[in-house]
Amino acid sequence: MGDCSVTIVGAGPSGLTLAWWLAEAGVPVTVLEQAETVPEDMRASTFHPATLDLLAESGFAQALVQRGTPVQRWQYLIHASGDSAIFDMGCLADETAFPFRLQCEQFQLTQLITARLQAHPLCRIAFGARCDSVVPDRDGVALSYTQSGQSIAHRCDWLLAADGAHSVVRNQLGLEFSGEVFPKSSITLVLDHDFEADIPNLLGVNYVWLPDRHYSLMRLRDTWRFTFSPEPDQDRDSALSDEAARDHIARVSPRASGAAILSRNFYTLHQRCLDNFCHGRVVFLGDAAHLNSPAGGMGMNSGIHDAHCLAEHLVPVLRGADPSLLARYDRRRQTIARDEVQRLSARNYARHRESRADQRQAIWQDLQDTVADPGRHKDYLMDAAMIRSRQREQAIA
Ligand SMILES: Cc1cc2nc3c(=O)[nH]c(=O)nc-3n(C[C@H](O)[C@H](O)[C@H](O)COP(=O)(O)OP(=O)(O)OC[C@H]3O[C@@H](n4cnc5c(N)ncnc54)[C@H](O)[C@@H]3O)c2cc1C
Repeated sequence: MGDCSVTIVGAGPSGLTLAWWLAEAGVPVTVLEQAETVPEDMRASTFHPATLDLLAESGFAQALVQRGTPVQRWQYLIHASGDSAIFDMGCLADETAFPFRLQCEQFQLTQLITARLQAHPLCRIAFGARCDSVVPDRDGVALSYTQSGQSIAHRCDWLLAADGAHSVVRNQLGLEFSGEVFPKSSITLVLDHDFEADIPNLLGVNYVWLPDRHYSLMRLRDTWRFTFSPEPDQDRDSALSDEAARDHIARVSPRASGAAILSRNFYTLHQRCLDNFCHGRVVFLGDAAHLNSPAGGMGMNSGIHDAHCLAEHLVPVLRGADPSLLARYDRRRQTIARDEVQRLSARNYARHRESRADQRQAIWQDLQDTVADPGRHKDYLMDAAMIRSRQREQAIA
C-alpha cells in the first residue's frame, strides 16, 4: 500500500478528516491547500451527533466538546407570544454517545486535525499550494500546483477532490454541477451580546418567528450567531450595512441592536450534486461533490460522512480489492446527498422562509404535534441528528 500515492486537494473539514482516516489506516497522503494556514472563516457552527460519533475514536469529538457549546434542547420560538416547540435530543441517548448538537466553529475541527496530521508520519500538508491543472489517465493523475510563485508538476495514483464549492478539479474535468440557486440568500452576523438576558426562555439554538420573517439565533462559546434573509430587492452592500443589520437585530432585541458586530457574511444558497462522485482515479467529496442550503447545518457534517465512507472503500482498493468497489461509495453518498441532506435542508429552508400566515400556522401545528408525540419527536431528531442517514448509507449495497 505504501507504493500507492494519494493526494487530497483541499484542507477543509472533508479533506482533512479523509486525510486523517487514510493516514490512520496506514495510507501515506499528501494534502494540497491553497490557503497559507487553516482559514478561520465563519462557516459551519453545528456538529451533529452522527458526526461526533465518527470523530470520537480519534478524540477529536471530545476536544471539540471542550471548545464548543453542547445544546441538548433547541426550539422554534414565536417571538411575540413566547410560545415554543422544543426538541429534546436527550431521547437519542440510546442511539449516540453525543445526544446533543454541538455549537462550535468548523475551524476548531480543522485546526485540531491539522495539528495532529502535521505530526503524523504518513501525512504531508502543503499550505499555500494551489492546484491549477488536473489531467487524469488510466493509472493515475498528473496535476500541477503553484506554491511560492513556482509551478510544480505532481503525479499521484489517486486524486481525492475536497476543494469545495468552486472545485478547480471539477472544473478541470469539465463536469456538470447541476442544480439550482435558492431564491433567497442569507446573512449571518457574529455578535458580542448576551441575548439570554433579553429574551425569556432562550435556548442554545433558536429559530425565532416574527409575523412576517424568521431569524435564527445560535450560541457559541463566547458569541451569538444571528442569521436572516436580506430584503429581496436589497443589494449586497446595503444588506450588509450596519444600519440594515442593526434594524434586523432590533426586531428581535432592541437592547442588542447596539452590540458589537464581530463579523458578517452574505451567502447565496445552492442545491447541486454531481451525477457521479467517481471519475476513474479522481474521486469527489464534500462541497466539491454536493451543495445544500445551510438550514439544519448539514453541509460540513455530510462532507465528513463522505470522508469516512470514502476511506472505508478506498483503503481495501489500495490493498488490492477491485476498484469497482468505489462505485458503492458513489451509490451510498450520492443517495444520501440527494435523498436525505438536500431533502431535509430544502424542507428547513422552506419552513424558515414561509411568510403566508395560513401556511405558517399549518407548519406550527405540525411542529407542536411532533414534539407532543414521543415517537414522532424521536423520529424527527433521528433525521436532524443525521443518525438515520448514516444508518441508511450503510444499508445501501
Ligand atoms: C454561513 C454558513 C454556515 C454553515 N453552517 C453549517 C453548519 O452549521 N453545519 C454544517 O454541516 N455545514 C454548514 N455550512 C456548510 C459548510 O461550511 C460546508 O459544507 C463545508 O465547509 C464543506 O467542507 P469541505 O471541506 O467540503 O469544503 P471547504 O470547507 O470549502 O474546503 C475546501 C478547501 O479547499 C481549498 N481549495 C479550494 N480550491 C483549491 C485549489 N485549487 N487548490 C488547493 N486548495 C483548494 C480551500 O481553500 C478550502 O480550504 C455552512 C456554510 C455557511 C456558508
